[in-house]
Amino acid sequence: MSVIYLDNNATTQVDPAVLEAMLPYLTEYYGNPSSMHTFGGQVGRAVSEARSQIAELLGADPSEIIFTSCGTEGNNAAIRAALTAQADRRHIITTQVEHAAVLNVCKQLEKQGYTVTYLSVNPQGQLDLTELEAALTGNTALVSIMYANNETGVIFPIEQIGQMVKEYGAIFHVDAVQAVGKVPLNMKTSTIDLLTLSGHKLHAPKGIGALYVRRGVRFRPFLLGGHQERGRRAGTENVPGIVALGKAAELAQTYLNGVDGERQLRDRLEQGLLANIPNCEVNGELTQRLPNTTNIGFKYIEGEAILLLLNKYGICASSGSACTSGSLEPSHVLRALGLPYTILHGSIRFSLSRYTTSAEIDQVLAVMPEIVERLRALSPFNSDAAEWLQDRELALNN
Ligand code: PLP
Repeated sequence: MSVIYLDNNATTQVDPAVLEAMLPYLTEYYGNPSSMHTFGGQVGRAVSEARSQIAELLGADPSEIIFTSCGTEGNNAAIRAALTAQADRRHIITTQVEHAAVLNVCKQLEKQGYTVTYLSVNPQGQLDLTELEAALTGNTALVSIMYANNETGVIFPIEQIGQMVKEYGAIFHVDAVQAVGKVPLNMKTSTIDLLTLSGHKLHAPKGIGALYVRRGVRFRPFLLGGHQERGRRAGTENVPGIVALGKAAELAQTYLNGVDGERQLRDRLEQGLLANIPNCEVNGELTQRLPNTTNIGFKYIEGEAILLLLNKYGICASSGSACTSGSLEPSHVLRALGLPYTILHGSIRFSLSRYTTSAEIDQVLAVMPEIVERLRALSPFNSDAAEWLQDRELALNN
């Protein structure tokens, strides 16, 4: 059975051209880019070329790109660096719907004496900028807000936010892990100071990422050691990964023009599901949204049960829930939207890629109505009156 992979916000397939570009750096060209000899030097040139390819995709200067191991490292490094650069300020603003790679850093910083404001989102998953305005003060060191949400795909008004942040002299970090390669970015005209990206979300392998640091923004390294990355990130470079990320960035640049095709497939999937399955709705804003993502709540059933049945057809999607200690709790993102409990538990994210085909969408549309019908027939919570679930939800919220 072939796989229908609609979980591209979790990770993506390595593009064959990316693999081809990186392979020689796992075999033939294994030198250390910092070495003085010619053998290492040619590897160093490959690293420089990759840096330029990423800079090109972001509209940045190559000197503003630092290679990291992943999006998580990029976020950690950016937040720590921003706080060191503004050491006299002790306030951070972020959102309730950030990835754990931002939220958990902020939680630890709270324990270290920082005050953190977690901005809320409305039921469409969108921020209210008056809440941001009210939170900003002269003590705000850092505002860290994601470009687009990994679960709903909702895009935040980053440049508007950046203008506000600048008025207070704070550093603006953007986790763009889900946006890079899906929406055009241009750092030349942007208010972003620090931007995180991750290779495995844009058809490069896992274990490589990059951080954009605007020239002039003081950057203290997160990892200490050797002088790699001009003293900004120690550790011998992951050369095959870097070459792969460069190639992936080059391909993403080309692909951005074709992203409308992906959007059309996503819309067809979404509209087909809404038209053929009663009691389901899209979670999050429809307009300001990544072209590849749809998050749909199917009332009265558990998302995990849908995933298990989809899995039987080789269809890979995801639900926002985290299975912790045997209980399935809805994700912090969907909870922040304040969705009714009947939607919260039955939400599924489908995330497409440039490899998604029309036939694959047809197959999902063919099997989903029956899956939902089967599960609803078995569900004891098949009405809004499933009050114990609501009580449980209230208890969780408190
Ligand atoms: N930020 C966002 C928005 C993400 O979706 C992810 C991964 O899912 C990360 C950060 C972490 O990236 P990585 O897996 O490269 O550490």
